[in-house]
Amino acid sequence: MSNTPSVKLPVTELNVVRKNQPAKVKIAESRIATLSSSPNIIRHITFDLGGSDLEGKFLSGQSIGVIPPVSGSEGKPESLRLYSISSPSDGEDGKGRFYSTTVKRLIAEHWETQDLYTGLCSNYLCKLREGDEVLVTGPSGKRFLLPDNYQDFKYVFFATGTGIAPFRGMIMDLVKRGHQNKMVLAFGSPYRTDLLYYPYFSELDKKIENFSYLSAVSREEPRANGQRPYVQSLIEDRADILEPVLKQSNTLIYICGIKGMETGIFRELGKKGLTEYFTFKKDIDSDPDKWDDEIMKKAIKPGDRMFLEVY
Ligand code: NAP
Repeated sequence: MSNTPSVKLPVTELNVVRKNQPAKVKIAESRIATLSSSPNIIRHITFDLGGSDLEGKFLSGQSIGVIPPVSGSEGKPESLRLYSISSPSDGEDGKGRFYSTTVKRLIAEHWETQDLYTGLCSNYLCKLREGDEVLVTGPSGKRFLLPDNYQDFKYVFFATGTGIAPFRGMIMDLVKRGHQNKMVLAFGSPYRTDLLYYPYFSELDKKIENFSYLSAVSREEPRANGQRPYVQSLIEDRADILEPVLKQSNTLIYICGIKGMETGIFRELGKKGLTEYFTFKKDIDSDPDKWDDEIMKKAIKPGDRMFLEVY
């Protein structure tokens, strides 16, 4: 019989505030979350939920809904967008009043028309200033959470870009609770200027023996073989830190960020023989080098010790 403790996820109250009756709250803070020389615009935005039904209601890993203003000629309400909370469960203030999120302004070119377009809600949110009002809902998300029996586990968090948001909150929760087991954050960004929350995590790495911060800066720090480093490359390149943790039967893996990162992680885990993190839905070649993305999408699902949120 396996001696792996089973994961007991918290039972949470979902959708306390719904779209048909959103809470009107204020922006408490909005600041650039990258270095000022970054070509990307990413903001750390804090909501003041004081006095609303959402006060104290979020757990790290959950999301807040934001309703952008009506748009279009018919004045149709815009649909709600979900943003991961980047705060610990008791908020930025430790009292459940202020909760933050991490938002990247979407600015892109339409592949066919070559018109420039901007993401409606990310640009709306990033324009808001302290004191501005915004309509919000939540909380949502019932699996991408720390377990109630969090102390039974070690943790490896893989994040790309703004996918770091839930892990800032979860790691802050674990640190506040005096977690004694190993925690590793593996973070991937295109440039060094986009190492989100770098001061916090690099300091934590120095301060807390059981926390390690690893980064993969894809466009600036090539691997020894010349390829771009991605978070999954760290499984090989920083095996000194990751392998001993990943081999433990009480380690949980959390993955958040860009869609597609999960298959890279599956393959690298497969190469190390760490397949107990998966459920196999169909037979698959025993050589992970032969696993292509399409095969993995059909054959591999996260098992009980893996939590995945990619968009
Ligand atoms: P970003 O700053 O562009 O960084 C993404 C990093 O991942 C880059 O270094 C990129 O490398 C690398 N990358 C590209 N393809 C990859 C792959 N297949 N495997 C591993 N790494 C890969 O990121 P972003 O624009 O903030 O995007 C973050 C994504 O996370 C968004 O899609 C957002 O929707 C999602 N997100 C999800 C949640 C959630 O599910 N709760 C929360 C927050 C964010 P290159 O240099 O090659 O581009």
